[in-house]
Amino acid sequence: MEFIDLHSQQKRIIDAIETNIKKVLTHGTYILGPEVEELEKTLAEYTGSKHAVGCASGTDALLMALMAHNIGPGDALFTTPFTFIATAEVISLLGATPIFVDIDPATFNISPTALSRAVQGVTKNDPSIHPLPTRQGSSPLVPRGIIAVDLFGLPADYDALGRIAEECDLWVIEDAAQSFGAVYRTKKAGSLAHIACTSFFPAKPLGCYGDGGMCFTDDDQVAEVLRSIMVHGKGSHKYDNIRIGINGRLDTMQAAILLAKFDIFPEELTNRRKIADRYGMLLSELPLVTAPSIPEGYESAWAQYSIMLPDNKHRESVLNRCSSEGIPTAIYYPRPLHLQKAFGYQGYKTGDFPVSEDVAGRILSLPMHPYLLPEDQEKIALVLASATTAPAA
Ligand SMILES: *Cc1c(COP(=O)(O)O)cnc(C)c1O
Repeated sequence: MEFIDLHSQQKRIIDAIETNIKKVLTHGTYILGPEVEELEKTLAEYTGSKHAVGCASGTDALLMALMAHNIGPGDALFTTPFTFIATAEVISLLGATPIFVDIDPATFNISPTALSRAVQGVTKNDPSIHPLPTRQGSSPLVPRGIIAVDLFGLPADYDALGRIAEECDLWVIEDAAQSFGAVYRTKKAGSLAHIACTSFFPAKPLGCYGDGGMCFTDDDQVAEVLRSIMVHGKGSHKYDNIRIGINGRLDTMQAAILLAKFDIFPEELTNRRKIADRYGMLLSELPLVTAPSIPEGYESAWAQYSIMLPDNKHRESVLNRCSSEGIPTAIYYPRPLHLQKAFGYQGYKTGDFPVSEDVAGRILSLPMHPYLLPEDQEKIALVLASATTAPAA
């Protein structure tokens, strides 16, 4: 049993992958070849976005989105501490300050209520309203934007976030690294904010065979700026440099692979949803296991299927039991970002974001991919049943 099975997928589409790779070898345009543009058009249409800009990774997509908003020192960006480090790392990389905001315990996504308080806390420079990072000097930070993460494939609550953003004059960036294919009300992930950023890291719902990413936006001007940032801040040509940018291009080879993979993506997504439903049914009987629930009007892309155990001790014993039965599991994420050494300079402490800390201590992710067999899911449920009825070792 595999946690994410990329081999079964490859077996299905190996001919298409080889054909597409061969095409690239034949035309030889390895940098920004025709496949990149074709993929951009295809995925823009799929998400319902006006523009798509391919780039080298999900991290670069986020970095480019912040650069397009001219983020720098003195700027406050709101995001959760319960995410992959890339989401907050790009904020610090540009010299801006990540303001962590706790998650909603039901969705693991940014809590709109906590966000309102966080904006107020920053605006009034008052740590009694919201835990704030320690900083040199006393000039207050300027709230600029929100990076909402669609964690495990489930979109954040963009209507609520949009209302706060409008009220407080902020923009929203969607970190859709895990949610490509998800739905929020009538719209697809990748079209839920001013700029959306996704990742094609192999383990993501739509993954390539290396690194890759994409930005989506409806804003013509922002799309043009993103394209410029992606190629060293180019102006009318590569050697006309009008802003500071990066080398953030998506590989032609990866775009070619993604085109082959995208053909079966909608079907894979349907399979993921069936598998999630089956988990839901199998696990609903188990007393100490909380299966994820999806709010009305949302559809997850099921990048991960994560259950909650009652406490850290139970998780430890379930995890060990699974591993001895040959069931791979993973912990996303064992330590919230505000308690990571990398963000130690911010001076956050245990207790600042209690929901994130609680979830980090008892969450467990189960195997999840479109090729997971019903009998494997049944075995997982049986092992979980016996591991949770036995007293925690
Ligand atoms: C994977 C991931 C990223 C970064 O994507 P890369 O392509 O690995 O750079 C950013 N945010 C989240 C939430 C992710 O899961």
